[in-house]
Amino acid sequence: MRFQLEGARIYDPTSSLRLPPAGPGELPRGNLQVEDGRIVAAGAELPAGGARVLDATGLVLAPGLADLHVHFRDPGEEAKEDLVSGGRAAVAGGFAHVVTMANTRPPIDEVPRLRDLITRSGASPVRIHPAAAVTRGLGGESLTEMVRLAEAGACAFTDDGRPLPDARMARLAMRYSTLAGRPLLLHAEDPSLSAGGVMRLGLAATRMGLKGIPATSEEVAIAREIALARETGARIHLQHLSTARAVELVRQAKEEGLPVTAEVTPHHLALTDEAVARWGASAKMNPPLGTAADREALRQALAQGLIDCIATDHAPHSREEKDQELDLAPFGVVGLETALGVVLTELVHTGLLDLARALHLLTAGPAAILDLPAGRLDVGGPADLVLIDPWERWTVEPERFASKGRHTPFAGAVLTGRAVATWVGGRLQAVGGRPVDDEAEGWRALEAHLAGRAGAGDPGARPAGETPEPRSLWRAERARTPA
Ligand SMILES: [Zn+2]
Repeated sequence: MRFQLEGARIYDPTSSLRLPPAGPGELPRGNLQVEDGRIVAAGAELPAGGARVLDATGLVLAPGLADLHVHFRDPGEEAKEDLVSGGRAAVAGGFAHVVTMANTRPPIDEVPRLRDLITRSGASPVRIHPAAAVTRGLGGESLTEMVRLAEAGACAFTDDGRPLPDARMARLAMRYSTLAGRPLLLHAEDPSLSAGGVMRLGLAATRMGLKGIPATSEEVAIAREIALARETGARIHLQHLSTARAVELVRQAKEEGLPVTAEVTPHHLALTDEAVARWGASAKMNPPLGTAADREALRQALAQGLIDCIATDHAPHSREEKDQELDLAPFGVVGLETALGVVLTELVHTGLLDLARALHLLTAGPAAILDLPAGRLDVGGPADLVLIDPWERWTVEPERFASKGRHTPFAGAVLTGRAVATWVGGRLQAVGGRPVDDEAEGWRALEAHLAGRAGAGDPGARPAGETPEPRSLWRAERARTPA
């Protein structure tokens, strides 16, 4: 099948398509043609030559989003999520690539299990890059065969869900991950400080009479991991930063030139511990939501280029488990279907980030950390694409999620910005925030959606008078000195 997207603003992180900017420093407008799953041509003027044409004026075309942190619960807890339902949630949210965590049942700690997962991933609509476990059975006592797991396709190593228990094991893991040539994804938590905690220690927890997790639980662990990375030279990636001081530790490590990268989740960027009173278990995750000062520090770190990517920590659980008393309910919320909308609403439309910077954090930023074949647009390369309407207003309805998970602190939120369509390898996988089951039907839905927007025009001022700074939306990423 051959199709051409016309008139979209194109976010081309590596400038591979060589499109001239539309205005000084602005995202270029252009056409992009796809045939047999690959991008075959791009240009400001491009004859359609018989391709199926879609008018994408006023929309943004970007590489399919990449998420370094998802829990698909497969194998073992497929009632919570499986490779297909998780993949459907991913493409619905605009993602073409995800990195699955290894804390399944059993965990991905042996080559045959990894091979089985990779084989079964072919049935998922999203491209799955599995991470393998650092320790056998996630037990924290003996290392997995990291070199063999890397050779078999593990893109990284992580015991996420739990921290590495002691410094000796973390140090050993760093040595072997270096031999294996893959980074460690580290969940930074000191269980001697966090044990029994439900939410962040502080005023909100005291008011609710709940046991708190101190911010130092994360900070002590991050300080340890950075010290060990300095000693071993290992590449480490710090998952889901949640405190202001954690940000400072990352800043120092980067200033020192250590190979340390970090991610932050949309929920830590959007919410504070006050959300737990309102949302209960739907705002219970690990690390917990922090204070307003933490949230501000995380936002500023993103704006300064200090944090390398946004990752969802999509962590579905069953209704029965989440409906328990708050101190019994498991940690974790879903995030794949709300991430883009939350980022656009909270960070871009508020003027904190350029659209291009936000998209970097969801495409080329994460891809670079794990050397994933993602986050770029190349003629001849795979057509992993997302078409985004940065102005579409929609209400988060968890009952309509493609994920089997329903728990999100964004239920009922009205967001501005959404993935209109997602292609993976040129195949249309989602339209209007819903996965596509029948591709022909999907194309009809997409054409109807685009026809409904016809005449909306480009300059980003739509809907009139609503959100300020319409022009800044199209600004190409400003040069940033690396932090
Ligand atoms: Zn974690």
